[in-house]
Amino acid sequence: MDLEKIIDILDNDYEENFTYNQWSYQRFANFYHQYEQSDEEFNHKIEKIKNLILDLGITDLHDIAEQSGCAYDECILKISYLKNKRIIGDYYIDSAAGIVALCSEEDQKLLKKYQKSIYRFHRSIEEMAEALSMTPEQVFSELEYLDNKKLLNGIILDKVDKRIIYYTVEKHLKEKYLVTVSCENCGALNDVKVGSKVRCEYCDTIIQDKTIENAVIKIREKYNKKNSE
Ligand SMILES: [Zn+2]
Repeated sequence: MDLEKIIDILDNDYEENFTYNQWSYQRFANFYHQYEQSDEEFNHKIEKIKNLILDLGITDLHDIAEQSGCAYDECILKISYLKNKRIIGDYYIDSAAGIVALCSEEDQKLLKKYQKSIYRFHRSIEEMAEALSMTPEQVFSELEYLDNKKLLNGIILDKVDKRIIYYTVEKHLKEKYLVTVSCENCGALNDVKVGSKVRCEYCDTIIQDKTIENAVIKIREKYNKKNSE
């Protein structure tokens, strides 16, 4: 697995937004530890949900579930999936109150501030803090606010380690691919899962694979260049 391939995977995933299919929906559900069976009505249900929310302005989740032929939880998961695909834009899901509604202008502004960092560049919290001249704690608390309102998609905000886990990265890369990394201390070659750490087999030094970080940097350079042209 080389850097170019990883750049392609991360970048294509962004380009694949705005299209949906059952297979990607099942993968999405899986990331959130939910199991979704295959369903002949999948396309019909999705179209119906889109229509109810975007065209008819229905906000009541129970109504949407009933009219689209979904179970309640299934309906919420499908809406989250559509949000993740950026098909349903700046809406928030309030499952306690049972509504899905367009968020306030203030929230939309806050969302805009982070959208590119998250969806295009897969930035870490530290990187966002640096780019925005804020402290990582401030960034985390704003992200937590957006996350609590379910306005962020395709990520898990890890509240213990205060970091972002990206769906794209986890889905495609982690656990699946090995790369060979040479130990900084003794130079021995070790197999490491993409994006993770191991101890060197020979000298016990911690070795970390940086392929994902490097891929993200390359993607960033590519789009910065495009924007400045
Ligand atoms: Zn070593």
